[in-house]
Amino acid sequence: MKQIYAYLKGLDYAQDIGPLIKAFFRECDIKTINIDEAEEEKKREEARIKRGHGQIDVPETVGRVNFLLEDEAFSIDAEIYGRKAGASEDFSERDENTYQNQGDPDRRMYRNHLHRALYRVLSEISGKVLPWGTLTGVRPTKQVLDMRLRGFSPKEIISYYENEYLASPAKARLALKVTENESRLLEGLTFDDTYSLYIGVPFCPSICLYCSFSAYPYEKFKAYAEPYVEALLKEIEATALMMKNKRLISIYFGGGTPTTMSADQLRAIIRKIKACFDLKDLREWTIEAGRPDSITREKLMAMKEEGITRISVNPQSMQQKTLDLIGRRHTVEDVINAFKLARECGFDNINMDLIAGLNGEVLSDFTDTLEKVGELEPDSITVHTLAVKRAARLNAEMDSYADSLSKETGLMTEAAEKYMAEKGYEPYYLYRQKNMSDNLENVGYAKPGKEGLYNVLIMEECHTIAACGPGASSKLVRSDECFGGGFLNEAEDGEYKVRKIERTENVKSVKDYVERTDEMIERKRKLFSDI
Ligand code: SF4
Repeated sequence: MKQIYAYLKGLDYAQDIGPLIKAFFRECDIKTINIDEAEEEKKREEARIKRGHGQIDVPETVGRVNFLLEDEAFSIDAEIYGRKAGASEDFSERDENTYQNQGDPDRRMYRNHLHRALYRVLSEISGKVLPWGTLTGVRPTKQVLDMRLRGFSPKEIISYYENEYLASPAKARLALKVTENESRLLEGLTFDDTYSLYIGVPFCPSICLYCSFSAYPYEKFKAYAEPYVEALLKEIEATALMMKNKRLISIYFGGGTPTTMSADQLRAIIRKIKACFDLKDLREWTIEAGRPDSITREKLMAMKEEGITRISVNPQSMQQKTLDLIGRRHTVEDVINAFKLARECGFDNINMDLIAGLNGEVLSDFTDTLEKVGELEPDSITVHTLAVKRAARLNAEMDSYADSLSKETGLMTEAAEKYMAEKGYEPYYLYRQKNMSDNLENVGYAKPGKEGLYNVLIMEECHTIAACGPGASSKLVRSDECFGGGFLNEAEDGEYKVRKIERTENVKSVKDYVERTDEMIERKRKLFSDI
C-alpha cells in the first residue's frame, strides 16, 4: 500500500490531519511524524521533493504540514500554515450569538483554519471535492444539533457549515433533516434511567471482503457455537442483575449475523433474556438477520413467536457480480426470497442495508439495486458508504483491489437521497466511520413510524448500553450539569447537560470470550457498579 508521510511541527493536530489526508487518498496509508525544522529540511532534501504545490501564506503559523507520497508520480510538497486571527470571521461580530461549542475555542479555530488550508491544497492536488468538506468526525450532525439548540436558523447553520468546514449546502441540509427527525423520535424519552441491551453474535456464513467486525465463518468455527451460547447465557444473567435499577427500552442483536445460529439456539438466547430482564418498558427488539443465506422459515418463526419486532435482511448490493466479488456466497434471488419469507412470517418492520461504492460498481449498478430493493418495499433502508477498515481483507489486499474502488460513490449517495425522498423514506440517523469512500456517510432512511430506535440511541450516545458477547462494547452514559453537548431533550433552565461516557469492551476472539466469560462479567460489573 502506498504511504503518505505527513511531517508535522509538533503533533498537536496529528489526530485531525491524518483523517483529512486519508479522505482524499483512501488507498494510501497515512503516517504522521513529528519532526523539528532541521529534520524537516533534511527529509525534504533526501526525498528530493519538488516544491510548488499550494503554499498558503498567512501571518502567524500555528501548524504546518509537509506531506510526501512515496511515488515519484505523485510527489507532493505542500506547506500549510494556519493563522491565529480571523478563522471565524463570519461569526466574529455576533457577540452573544456567536457560536461557541465546548472545548478550547482557540484550538478549534486554529484547527479549522489549518483544515481549510490543507483541504484546498489536497483538493487541488487530487482534483476531488469532498461533500462534507473538512469534517471527518463520526457525527457530522453533532454541531447542527448544538447550533439548533442555541437558536441558529437553518440558513445560518448551512452558511456556517459552508464557511467553517467547506461543506456543501446539500450535506448541511441533510444533517439538519436528520437532527429534526432524531429529535422527534427521542422526544419524551428520558435517558438517565433507561438503557439498551446489545447482544453480539460472532458468526457469519462467510466473511465479506470489507468486514472488520468480530465475525467468524461458521463452518470453520462451529465447534465454538455451543460454548459461545453457554457463555452468553451466563453473561446475560449476570448483566440483568447489574442493570436492575434501570429500565430496558431497546434490545439489539448484531454481530456477525445472529441468524447464523440455529432456531433452537436463537430461542434459547431470547428466552434467557425474557426470563432475566424486565421488559415492560421495551419499545423495540431488533435482530439482524443480515445474510439471506442464514435465513430459514424455522428461524424466522422462532423470532416472530418470541416477540422480535424488527429484523434486517441485508443485500448490500443486488448485483450478482458484486455479491460474488465481496464473498457473500448468496444470490440476488436469495435476498428476494428471504425478504418475502420474512413478510410471510409476519414481520412488519424489516430493514435492508445497502452499500454505496462497492468495488467495481458504477452509478447504474447502484440505482438498479435501489430499484430492486424498492420493489420489495422494506420499512427502512440503510445506505452505507464503503469504508476500508484496517482489519478488513479489502485493506490487507488493497493492491489487488485499488483499481476497482468505485469512483462514483458520491453520485450514488446523492441518488439514494433522491430516491428515498421520492418513495417516502425519511433520513433519521447519520454517522460516519473512518476511511469511508470520499469521506461520505451512512444514512438510515425509514418510513414514518418504522425507524430503528436503537440506531439513534447508540449514535447520539444519550443513554447507557449493556453489551454481551465477543467484542461487545458496553458504555455507561452519565449526565452532568455542564454546558454543551448532550442531547437536546435534556434542556434544563436554558442550559444543556453534557454526557460523560465510560466504556468497557469484551475480548473480540470467541475462544477468549468462552474461556474468560467471568472476567468479561467482572469488567461490566465494575463499570456499572454504582448505577
Ligand atoms: S455479514 Fe457483516 S459481520 Fe458478517 S462477514 Fe459480512 S460484513 Fe462481516
